[in-house]
Amino acid sequence: MRIDKLLANTGYGSRKEVKQLLKSGTVFADGEKVKDPKTHVDPEKQQITVNGETIEYKEFIYLLLNKPAGFISATEDEYDETVLDLLETEDIIYKPFPVGRLDKDTEGLLLLTNDGQLAHQLLSPKKHVPKTYYAKILGEVTDDDKTAFENGVELDDGYITKPAKLHIITSGPESEIELTITEGKFHQVKRMFIAVGKKVQYLKRITMGPLCLDEEELKRGEYRDLTEEEVELLK
Ligand code: URA
Repeated sequence: MRIDKLLANTGYGSRKEVKQLLKSGTVFADGEKVKDPKTHVDPEKQQITVNGETIEYKEFIYLLLNKPAGFISATEDEYDETVLDLLETEDIIYKPFPVGRLDKDTEGLLLLTNDGQLAHQLLSPKKHVPKTYYAKILGEVTDDDKTAFENGVELDDGYITKPAKLHIITSGPESEIELTITEGKFHQVKRMFIAVGKKVQYLKRITMGPLCLDEEELKRGEYRDLTEEEVELLK
């Protein structure tokens, strides 16, 4: 990539500021001074330094966030804070975006990346990536609901959901469940429960494909890089 783009992407200022920086003679690639902004460098193979400081650069970033309620799964919003507001500048420079959406009041596992190809794959309806949600439900969840979800329920717009697996943790006037779905229709879990006459009171995503939310390690609002192994498993 061009050295000016690399420097701008890694937080060394605007293209104009970066040009000045290069002119000042403090940027080196494998020990050789670089002054021309058009110079091509490979930050993963070459050592690029600015004022003696090595630039750590990777092309792709993969972050697992434990999303708290109150944040929008988008990169910008006119009124509310977005999940990007939970990230450090050193990660924001890679321009990550959320892979799919969790509602503003939904918590839990949200993947953020700048790898458009992987995001596209994961969101493709053909891929059927399973996602498990933990929910608190107003109303008694029964084995009939289990069967209904297995067979598919009709949502308010007439859509029939694909088979989903319901695990009842506790059942009563308020129930606790885990539900695994393989699609991602708008407000899907909430609408599936409406279809069986119940209301989701609290919703948290706990898995997405091979990724699991470990709440001991990641408190609400915290995030971590995926391991190389997790990235491979996702592909
Ligand atoms: N289903 C919902 O209803 N909401 C979410 O945020 C995710 C799945």
